[in-house]
Amino acid sequence: MEWSRKWFEPCRSVLREGVALAPLSHIRIGGSACVFVEPWSEEDAAAVVRVCLEHGLPWRVLGGGSNILVADEGIDAVVIYLGGWNRVERDGRNLIASAGASLPSLLRRSRETKLSGLEGLIGIPAQVGGAVAMNAGTHVTETFDRIVQLRVIDEFGELRELERDALRPSYRNGNLGDVVVTRATFELEDERPAEVDERMKELLLRRNASQPVTQRSVGCIFKNPEEEAAGALIQAAGLMGERVGDIEVSTKHANYFVNTGHGTARQLLDLVERVQERVRDHAGVELELEVQLWGF
Ligand SMILES: Cc1cc2nc3c(=O)[nH]c(=O)nc-3n(C[C@H](O)[C@H](O)[C@H](O)COP(=O)(O)OP(=O)(O)OC[C@H]3O[C@@H](n4cnc5c(N)ncnc54)[C@H](O)[C@@H]3O)c2cc1C
Repeated sequence: MEWSRKWFEPCRSVLREGVALAPLSHIRIGGSACVFVEPWSEEDAAAVVRVCLEHGLPWRVLGGGSNILVADEGIDAVVIYLGGWNRVERDGRNLIASAGASLPSLLRRSRETKLSGLEGLIGIPAQVGGAVAMNAGTHVTETFDRIVQLRVIDEFGELRELERDALRPSYRNGNLGDVVVTRATFELEDERPAEVDERMKELLLRRNASQPVTQRSVGCIFKNPEEEAAGALIQAAGLMGERVGDIEVSTKHANYFVNTGHGTARQLLDLVERVQERVRDHAGVELELEVQLWGF
């Protein structure tokens, strides 16, 4: 990618070259970002997007890195990172969260301020921006269930507010197109009965018992096909514990591939191919990747 540092001078952002993305990804895999930009403000982020548009530079937004796989060779693009924007403020029954705030910190704030409605998102290691982009959720709650307003930088590099009526999320997809989410407003319940905390504990215990939460992964690796849960299909094909190098099909939940040491993106994709083939042979079902691939 041909670019010049000069182009970004008006953007008031910290710009670095060749930043390793593995430490910023949950699975700890992947090479570097050609250009890595941390804008100071929404206006600065919008200016970064406009520079990319003007010069035809590919760009991506990195959130908590919990649903991406970066190629071992890295990614030839401008990676915009908002992890420093971590404010969560209360306004009446609303919590207004900056895109870089983590979901755990949002949930903590809702607990402290005795607001409820987000409990079902407990244990998802995302940032607010990433949770919105993917409409992260569980069988209990999805991120969009409580969103009343979003602030985004649109595909032309302009800041816009989107109200609830204009939003069309679907299963694990915010359907927002090529935007940068900068802020989300969640409308919550004004009371927090004791049962809410009990329910949260229960959900967390259930998650901890059924998923390899202490290991490095990208969450569910495949989408659930209509026929059956991907994990059940992989397990039925006898693939729990299957390995390529340091990447292993979790023995706790077969739709999680875990990095047990120094796994690589190549190893992970080789394991993906092997699992797809064996499930195809065993059940006649084509498994589709859920994780987002960067730099392939
Ligand atoms: C242990 C584990 C458990 C998980 N459990 C669940 C679960 O229960 N439910 C669930 O839905 N998911 C789950 N996931 C997957 C993951 O947490 C979600 O997909 C989450 O939405 C990803 O958010 P992120 O901030 O990590 O985004 P990233 O992984 O960094 O990025 C994912 C996508 O969002 C985009 N994005 C990130 N930030 C922004 C932004 N500010 N503006 C625009 N686009 C942005 C990226 O460009 C990318 O396309 C789990 C993952 C792990 C590792």
